[in-house]
Amino acid sequence: MAYVKHWANEEKLNATEKQKLARDGLKIFEDIPRYAKEGFEAIPKEEWPMFKWAGLYLQRPKEDGYFMMRVCVPSGILNYEQAVALAKISRDYGRGIFDVTTRQAVQFHWLRIEEIPDIFERLKKVGLSTAGACGDIARNITGNPLAGIDPAETMDTAPIVEEVFRFFQHNEDFSNLPRKYKMSISANVHNAAHAEINCLSFVPAVKTIDGEEVLGFHVKVGGGLSAKPYLAQTLNVFVRPEQVKEVAVAVTTIFRDYGYRIKRHRARLKFLVADWGAEKFTEKLLEYTGPLPEKGKELTREWNAGYFYGVHRQKQPGLNYIGFNVPVGRLTAEEVLELARISKKYGTGEIRNCNSQNIILPNIPDEHVEALLAEEIFQERFRIDPPQFTAFSVSCTGIEYCNLAIVETKERMRRLAEYLDEHVSVDVPLRLHMVGCPNSCGQRQIADIGLQGIKMRTADKRMVEAFEIYVGGTLDHGGEFNQKLKGKVDAQILGPVLKELITYFKEQKEQGESFYDF
Ligand code: SF4
Repeated sequence: MAYVKHWANEEKLNATEKQKLARDGLKIFEDIPRYAKEGFEAIPKEEWPMFKWAGLYLQRPKEDGYFMMRVCVPSGILNYEQAVALAKISRDYGRGIFDVTTRQAVQFHWLRIEEIPDIFERLKKVGLSTAGACGDIARNITGNPLAGIDPAETMDTAPIVEEVFRFFQHNEDFSNLPRKYKMSISANVHNAAHAEINCLSFVPAVKTIDGEEVLGFHVKVGGGLSAKPYLAQTLNVFVRPEQVKEVAVAVTTIFRDYGYRIKRHRARLKFLVADWGAEKFTEKLLEYTGPLPEKGKELTREWNAGYFYGVHRQKQPGLNYIGFNVPVGRLTAEEVLELARISKKYGTGEIRNCNSQNIILPNIPDEHVEALLAEEIFQERFRIDPPQFTAFSVSCTGIEYCNLAIVETKERMRRLAEYLDEHVSVDVPLRLHMVGCPNSCGQRQIADIGLQGIKMRTADKRMVEAFEIYVGGTLDHGGEFNQKLKGKVDAQILGPVLKELITYFKEQKEQGESFYDF
């Protein structure tokens, strides 16, 4: 379905909009088998951007014809068969690289067009798909990685996420949105799904209706990062669990039909919400949904930033979930196969991805915890008690594969965290997020210390990789983005500079004070 044009005449549309109107992005799925037979050279250059609708980006340099593929994993929950299928795709086609993203999805690299149909077939067999992973479409829905087993959730949101995700995936009524569109649905009271930085999020709430306490959701809209970040605003509605899909469809319809399509850098839902305000947006929403009760009481407490290290009790008596560290979210195919084996041997075989790029193994009976933790892979590589900076480091893909990147990130962030672990310590967790450009795949703005890559000319006129440093980001206390410190730092001396900064912070602060409080 073409969107309803409430706002402009067609001549003013940006080039991407014209291309999307000419042919729906999801149609690329129909072309891929032919391109796979004919080879990369047969793909017209102007078609390259449309591959995003199939979860595919060309790696740098684009002309070499290698693709990055992102696979949707709603709420980050993978069953055993899915985890094994993904690991084998990585092993057979992706040079063994398996990345967990900040939206709980999985990314592969080094794929050739000839291999894509077989990969799609393998994904389909286990109920996975790449549709919705990239492009101007409803993206992978993030959620509580502990959905269904979480003592800190007000309800199991996995079935709701699944219902909403399946409605939008492959749905041509919603595959031409003005820009990417990110949703989160979580009932974890520690804001595990980072509600405030999503276009649309559902957060746990309670409301007394007809004398009865009803558990449901509050709705936030218009959050997002990148060069102009916004925190989502709360609408004055209370939503029952069975109404989540209807409200999600209504908000997405508003975005599709009223969202901006002239300047691409002003097309995200956050700009429409900033212009309208929460009150007008609520009024418009009610035109689509009919009356909804007003807000109740939000149940979110302090933010856990998506970290779940250690062994913890589940809702279900006698069962535990175990959270461990995956440095900067990068694993090998063999490691994923080993984790799946261990998860199956001691539990139910599930693997759960966190937006902190770490992994949880759920459903481990009390009597198996000790044996599981004695497995070799948890001794050094994936620790449940990782060193402080390695524990809280996040990184985007960076220049290794990303066409938009200005600097290298992933391996640099891993080494930087190791350096800090060797040279400095502090009494609060310091979350470090590194990004290779102003786009925020590594969520730089919400970090205690955000590191954003840039190029810099040195005194002797050389261009070098450098970083801007931002401090004090959080989603606690209603959320606040970090602030830029003056200047930029040559990447060569980033470690020692951060060591000095953290030492200064440690010496000046009160006990337990974070960068946000400082
Ligand atoms: Fe690429 Fe920039 Fe995203 Fe990093 S933040 S993956 S460099 S687009």
